[in-house]
Amino acid sequence: MTQGKDIRPDAGPWTPSGELDGGTDDCGSGLLLSLSGAMRGIEVGQVLLLHTQEKSVLADLPAWARLAGHELLSVIDAGGGAGPWKLAILRGERAAQSIVTESFTSGTAVPLGQRLWLYSNFHCNLACGYCCAQSSPSARPRMLPVDVAASAVDEFVALGGRELLITGGEPFLHPGLGAMVDYAAQHLPVVILTNAMVFARGTRRSTLEAMDRERVTLQVSLDSAGPGLHDRQRGAGSHAQALRGIGQARELGFRIRVAATLHEEDLTAADRLNAALDNLGIAEDDRVIRPIAAEGFADTGVHISLDSVQPEPTLTVDGAWWHPVAVTNPHLRVADSPLPLRHVLNVMRDVLAVQADGAAEGRAVFRCT
Ligand code: SF4
Repeated sequence: MTQGKDIRPDAGPWTPSGELDGGTDDCGSGLLLSLSGAMRGIEVGQVLLLHTQEKSVLADLPAWARLAGHELLSVIDAGGGAGPWKLAILRGERAAQSIVTESFTSGTAVPLGQRLWLYSNFHCNLACGYCCAQSSPSARPRMLPVDVAASAVDEFVALGGRELLITGGEPFLHPGLGAMVDYAAQHLPVVILTNAMVFARGTRRSTLEAMDRERVTLQVSLDSAGPGLHDRQRGAGSHAQALRGIGQARELGFRIRVAATLHEEDLTAADRLNAALDNLGIAEDDRVIRPIAAEGFADTGVHISLDSVQPEPTLTVDGAWWHPVAVTNPHLRVADSPLPLRHVLNVMRDVLAVQADGAAEGRAVFRCT
């Protein structure tokens, strides 16, 4: 099985039960997520063979394996010092930890596993310049089937989940949103992130009217007090339409949260927005003011990585992700399938536990190239 020079000749014989091609990823990019997922895919006592072309992995992997409770058995240099390399890792067992995570959405600290994000779809009536999901009217819808959402809710609730957030794209463009929310709201509180521009009439209005006012909150995007910044970022006339949508939903009895995405350099914009929200009667606890993330369509903004944001488990139709603002970032993909949710949360806990132990040692485990 092994070819080339083993630079840990003390390692005994082993046979891999799984293999992972890490390519050129380093431990600061996607490797630790995919590696943690692959280790979860084999049994305790089995061996994973990691293929890598990234030399820094040789320096980081021993520390990662020790912190994660695994054993690095062997490093095989197949290229005379220039790589690629193969690393044989024996899966150990690590005690589960309770992890507390910060929320990008409201600043509230919640244990991992209590809050779950679903991307209902990726198409949108708008095409905002900073959209982290790369949504637009022409985006591939990538709609989450209602039965997959229901299965995620079932598993999430069984695991102790407390809050569901549905985002997109514009969720009200998903024809199954009503059924999705109806099912979820029977089990836990639901927040729908919306631009509030598409439910004024017709079937989307009916969908909204049928939702449970006690269990469903709408989080509406409103980027500025007046139309200036909001319309520049989101399209002419969108500010006025968002305000109309807020009014329509409030008339129907819904609790409204407002979320603004601001440029960090505009120091007075938040003050002006807060004054406008005071006038609108939006409670302070129902305001989320956040910076632009350098993800998706945005080429500037807050850098998002494994160690710059705490995880917010996020499911899409085709995978699971570290954070809802990073669903176009291949380095923050946790799994290739949204379910089972238990696997997604376990991989995140493994990574968090290694981060915590590494930080306690003062060691920068995750390198970002
Ligand atoms: S930021 Fe929101 S409203 Fe704008 S394109 Fe993206 S999903 Fe649509």
